[in-house]
Amino acid sequence: MILPGATLGIIGGGQLGRMFCMAARRMGYRTVVWTGGLEAPAVEVADEAVDAPFDSAAALAEFTAKVEVATVEFENIPRETLEAVAEEIPLHPSPEALAICQNREREKRFLQSNGIPCADFEVVSNAGELAAAIRRIGTPAVLKTAAFGYDGKGQRKLEGGEDAAEVWRDFDGARAVLEAFVPFECEISVMIARDARGVCSVYDPAENRHRHHILDVSIVPARISSETADEAIQLAGRVAEALDYRGIMGVEFFVLPDGSLRVNEMAPRPHNSGHHTLDACATSQFEQQLRTVCGLPPGSTRLLSPVVMLNLLGDMWPDETTPPDWAPLFADGAASLHLYGKKRAVGRRKMGHANVLGESVGDCLERAETLKAGWLGHG
Ligand code: AMP
Repeated sequence: MILPGATLGIIGGGQLGRMFCMAARRMGYRTVVWTGGLEAPAVEVADEAVDAPFDSAAALAEFTAKVEVATVEFENIPRETLEAVAEEIPLHPSPEALAICQNREREKRFLQSNGIPCADFEVVSNAGELAAAIRRIGTPAVLKTAAFGYDGKGQRKLEGGEDAAEVWRDFDGARAVLEAFVPFECEISVMIARDARGVCSVYDPAENRHRHHILDVSIVPARISSETADEAIQLAGRVAEALDYRGIMGVEFFVLPDGSLRVNEMAPRPHNSGHHTLDACATSQFEQQLRTVCGLPPGSTRLLSPVVMLNLLGDMWPDETTPPDWAPLFADGAASLHLYGKKRAVGRRKMGHANVLGESVGDCLERAETLKAGWLGHG
């Protein structure tokens, strides 16, 4: 067990790292973040930062010398870096688990080979393969880059009738996955942590709504049947088990009209749809990450209150440096504000989030939507 007083390493310096550092600090741990750029959100709350690219040998030596254990806050870290870190110090989750989750081709093949339901797919690497894949899978379908995609980036929906050669020419990526479009009723995600002994602790599924392909609100409890919730929890457990996972992860699902599920993707770290746990659960996802990474027993995942998490994106800022009027949120009394310390608000950048607690999800949603409408109208 790695106990308070120890120094923990985080690879990546974004808001997920920032909130991990806050949890660590509260519990008496020290933190070192490895990030390119000292303006990164985690830097101002970490004890120390290593500011260098992920291929720097000097940074690797400095980082691994300073920390007892390391984890990640985003998955797009070169595999060589992850393996080099893991040779020096414990890294959770493992480079193997991270490599699967950071690449859609590997992720899809992993799901398929473990019999976990996901959208039908084909891997394509040229226009001819794309044409054949469209013929087999049909349209609508979604073409996604194999590597480094997130929040709808590197994706194109094909409605039918497109010219495969043209689509491939315009597509920015050497390898891609063509996925059947899933006519889902809603999207949900499950946050799951797996500890050193292989014991899983699972949070209630969150129902997720997107705006411009980016998470807009998460609603907990999700408005799904208890059978669907149980099935999602069971599938998340199978994913964590098959990855021999240690740490926290988010598993995203599509829910079909008949209540059946397809895994969309996995996030091998805390997830935006788990931010409600900061205010509405007995243990936050960041503390749970810390606990599993440090070898402590997991904390209770119990939901203490219905909650709606509202993402605060840059388009809610009247201009780049002027924040929204927080007065209505403060007046609410059961809504909490989390800001990531980003200096400039641009378009769809995630600037923070608000957790709106209440008697029922209907009540939370109504208050969250009112706050959002005011900010989007820059009112
Ligand atoms: P992703 O980056 O893969 O999570 O995709 C972003 C969003 O695009 C998802 O949350 C869905 O709303 C939508 N999407 C992605 N893949 C599919 C699919 N195969 N069928 C339907 N919608 C999809």
